[in-house]
Amino acid sequence: MGSKTILVTGGAGFLGSHLCDRLLADGHDVLCLDNFFTGAKRNIEHLIGHPRFELIRHDVTFPLYVEVDEIYNLACPASPIHYQHDPVQTTKTSVHGAINMLGLAKRLKCRIFQASTSEVYGDPAVHPQTEDYWGNVNPIGSRSCYDEGKRCAETLFFDYNRQHKLEIKVARIFNTYGPRMHPNDGRVVSNFIVQALKGDPISIYGDGSQTRSFCYVDDLIEGFVKLMTSPAGITGPINLGNPGEFTIRELAEMTLEMTGSKSKLVFRPLPEDDPKQRQPSITRARDLLDWHPEIPLREGLRHTINYFDLLLSDRSNEWQSPSSGMAGRVA
Ligand code: NAD
Ligand code: UDP
Ligand code: UDP
Repeated sequence: MGSKTILVTGGAGFLGSHLCDRLLADGHDVLCLDNFFTGAKRNIEHLIGHPRFELIRHDVTFPLYVEVDEIYNLACPASPIHYQHDPVQTTKTSVHGAINMLGLAKRLKCRIFQASTSEVYGDPAVHPQTEDYWGNVNPIGSRSCYDEGKRCAETLFFDYNRQHKLEIKVARIFNTYGPRMHPNDGRVVSNFIVQALKGDPISIYGDGSQTRSFCYVDDLIEGFVKLMTSPAGITGPINLGNPGEFTIRELAEMTLEMTGSKSKLVFRPLPEDDPKQRQPSITRARDLLDWHPEIPLREGLRHTINYFDLLLSDRSNEWQSPSSGMAGRVA
């Protein structure tokens, strides 16, 4: 595989920064684009000065003229706290962002990858979720800016594929965790670990019987690269996630045990439209990409706990500052 110049939008975010690391390690030149809404310089500071790495501060809702060989489109806030902070901007990021990046790919005649989401299935009536399931999504609720934005982006990707013969790669990502998650973005893995390490109560929403399936970031990034480098006829959508399914209560108990924390469990109201269950069917990814996750939850949690332990003990870090971007502003 020859060396390419690859654009990663949302490259300073949790997943984007791991993808930049991987593409550089594979010998490519990386153009990392981010508006730093939820991303952080900390995630990519180790790459600044790398001869094949370039950072662009830019918002994908505006046109972009660069010359690249491939595009990974990840720009979009991903946690409910972040995407509900400015819901109109969230929809614009998914929809206008997709149009601009597809327009760019059309001009360059290059492959483009879309980071779609299991949220396109909404509160699913089919379990586990297969790619041919059309979903059960509320179009007007508080999660809709994200869910419907991502659904519309998928529509655009498939219309550019049919209408302009663009080579597209659409991944439906299920809950992913690992180092560089925001300590205060409200997602369950980061919340529970931070609460456990600080000795604060572990906040279970509802009765904790709802389920999620958690994929470790390294496994997911391997899936991204396998999908992007797959034959042209493979467009997706393809689910990428770990089929290991856990209740939220089980996750809380595992986190307490692994951190040795004495935190108590507290029960809070379930947020609106919170899906009751979620588990990917990854038959398509296994058959078409020969991909499956390898890192079990316990092992991935160990790496993630170590990361947060270091982060919380670093008093100078930017997350603690109330004025340093979105993550710093969230209580
Ligand atoms: P993240 O918030 O850490 O990363 C998103 C990045 O996009 C941030 O760096 C942010 O600053 C940037 N961004 C947001 N709006 C932008 C805009 N208008 N212009 C330019 N940059 C912008 O989230 P993440 O978990 O790394 O998610 C990355 C992608 O993967 C997102 O598209 C998300 O929807 C998708 N995804 C993630 C998960 C998961 O579990 N982490 C699950 C499903 C889908
Ligand atoms: N676009 C871009 N960079 C490019 C080419 C296009 O940002 O190199 C944007 C441009 O702003 C346009 C969008 O992508 O609005 C869609 O482009 P397309 O060519 O599909 O549509 P058109 O320009 O005909 O509206
Ligand atoms: N959740 C919880 N406590 C928290 C944060 C989240 O019980 O502190 C629950 C949340 O209600 C949901 C699940 O954990 O049922 C996963 O939430 P997350 O926001 O991580 O992801 P998503 O809902 O988008 O899958």
